[in-house]
Amino acid sequence: MARNESLSPAAATDEVRLEASLRPRNFVDYVGQTAVVDKLKVYVKAAKGRGDSLDHCLFSGPPGLGKTSLAYIISAELGVGLHVTSGPALEKKGDLAGLLTNLQPRDVLFIDEIHRLGAAIEEYLYPAMEDFRLDVTIDTGPAARAMKIELPPFTLIGATTRTGLLTSPLRDRFQIQERLDFYTPADLERILLRSAQILGVEVEPDGAKEIARRARGTPRIANRLLRRLRDFAEVEGNGKITLALAAAALKRLDVDENGLDQMDRRVLLTIIDKFNGGPVGVETIAAAVGEERDTVEDVYEPFLLQQGFLQRTPRGRVATVRAFEYFGRKVPKGQAALF
Ligand code: ADP
Repeated sequence: MARNESLSPAAATDEVRLEASLRPRNFVDYVGQTAVVDKLKVYVKAAKGRGDSLDHCLFSGPPGLGKTSLAYIISAELGVGLHVTSGPALEKKGDLAGLLTNLQPRDVLFIDEIHRLGAAIEEYLYPAMEDFRLDVTIDTGPAARAMKIELPPFTLIGATTRTGLLTSPLRDRFQIQERLDFYTPADLERILLRSAQILGVEVEPDGAKEIARRARGTPRIANRLLRRLRDFAEVEGNGKITLALAAAALKRLDVDENGLDQMDRRVLLTIIDKFNGGPVGVETIAAAVGEERDTVEDVYEPFLLQQGFLQRTPRGRVATVRAFEYFGRKVPKGQAALF
């Protein structure tokens, strides 16, 4: 969600509404991630067949890859209620207790950004996850009494950008752990064609291909670009997203041939030009580009790593030869030896 944070409140609400309309509601509409989805289908079917709650699931991966969508789909396929919250929203134990005691048997509780749960709340969650029980203390001082509240069996689905951000006691309590990967252009094309249909915008196959190729392997970005391109098509074209219109509009949106946006390029150029290609610490990079360290690590780096522009070394981040060549910079002596 990091990218939404820079939007105005009105734009952010609009974005949320759009996402809700485009969100796949069942496994059939959920494109790609087949290895993960195929396993989840089995687990859901088995739990349903036994009449049990599904085991707790942890989904990890960069923003916009479909973690929240999976929580919606799983609850729908299980035919149970879904309760949505996030790590930062659960400030007090009472917030969590309120949610947990309102669950119906086998319901799904989805906690987005679960790595941002406070330590006290996290510990409070352990017995709930393990034994469907809440340990509460009533009163304070000498009159304090410990009480156990029985909870209905439920499924906790947690989403996080990196599993490494979770404490191991919390991580260990998820019996199902899956990582979502970036999507292929072919998968993004399918997602775009479905979204175009829902939004009622005409996209030529070549136009969809072009957006898919330049959407950073991320469905949320593909859908966002589609919406922006629809504006260009309506105002400056004949309403149809053609290849030519897509290419021209993406250029104006500062999305380059490989889908790198302005900040991706700034991160790489900072390493190349200011730090001679690295190694340089992520904290330093974040300060130089004026972004939060977490945003650089969770939003920008994964794609740059996957595309082979960046490497993580024990001494810091290093721009690869591919990155130097991409920007037409001369590879310094020694850098080539790294790769
Ligand atoms: P995350 O929780 O990982 O940040 P979301 O589940 O909120 O990502 O996905 C963002 C948007 O991208 C969704 O609203 C949906 O429109 C689209 N999306 C994500 N994954 C898929 C998918 N596998 N198939 C179709 N659309 C998807």
